[in-house]
Amino acid sequence: MVEEFAPGAYRLTESDRDGVVVANGVELSAAAAGHLISGIVRRADRQLEGRKALVDSASFLLDPATDASGRLTLRRRFLSFGRGEGDVIEQWRTWRLEPVSTVRLSATQVDDLTALRDSQHFAHGDLAGARVRGGVLRTNRVGSKSLQRVDCSGMYSLPPAAWRRLVEKGWAYIVGGQVEDGAAVRISAAGLVALALRDHRTSTTSPQGWHKSADSSDAGTRASGVVGMWRKGGRIYDGTSFVVCSGRCFSGRLLDTRALAQSEARAHRAEMIALALGAGGQQAQAAGARARAVAGGVKSPGAAWS
Ligand SMILES: [Zn+2]
Repeated sequence: MVEEFAPGAYRLTESDRDGVVVANGVELSAAAAGHLISGIVRRADRQLEGRKALVDSASFLLDPATDASGRLTLRRRFLSFGRGEGDVIEQWRTWRLEPVSTVRLSATQVDDLTALRDSQHFAHGDLAGARVRGGVLRTNRVGSKSLQRVDCSGMYSLPPAAWRRLVEKGWAYIVGGQVEDGAAVRISAAGLVALALRDHRTSTTSPQGWHKSADSSDAGTRASGVVGMWRKGGRIYDGTSFVVCSGRCFSGRLLDTRALAQSEARAHRAEMIALALGAGGQQAQAAGARARAVAGGVKSPGAAWS
């Protein structure tokens, strides 16, 4: 008997263009969610190809949450004619994907997911055949027991408990959803988002605020903090803040205020997640720009949960 193993990876809330919620917290398998996400990402890229002006009027949008939740919001725009002459009505169908598990990976899980992401194998072990993405399930007999491991390229394999945990968490999935010898095992969209969030942890430095000027030539003045008649206390204000990424993406970018530095950090995370999900550079930058503009993540036009 073949074991079915395709647990939910996301909870889907979907509202149609008339604002009616058509799905509310429905569990979606990693494969089904991946299909939905890559469909939007592909269409958005196709629409943007060589047409810069369209960035503002794109019909397909992917907006990664910029907190650590790993949530994704997908939108598709519909235009229709209103009653009046030349009236155009803009409506959006919206899918919100909430990961089933919290996005927190152990160091080993990071290694395992990275190996899965970068792995390629020959379909059905046919060395003359095509290479496919992901690792492959292999059965080993250990005494009377048969145990499945996932073999990846680069002499890497995942023990039974490890890959099962990744599938349970929604970070990886078995193509076809059945535990059988030779089946491909791939990193899921949720897994790619989890890796991107881990690789791009951003922070901003707190501004120095009011402090003593260090530009006085006199040591006594510097120590007392009194600089002349009109700069009582010699204190000056510095509100600048650095934005820093754990992936060393900016080499310490300085912004005028901390709020600006935080919006820069949001934009960076959104852009990196979009890229991880296969978006082209232009699409990813546009997602970053939307995240920069709106504090706390996505503001959905006409969305039921805004
Ligand atoms: Zn980064």
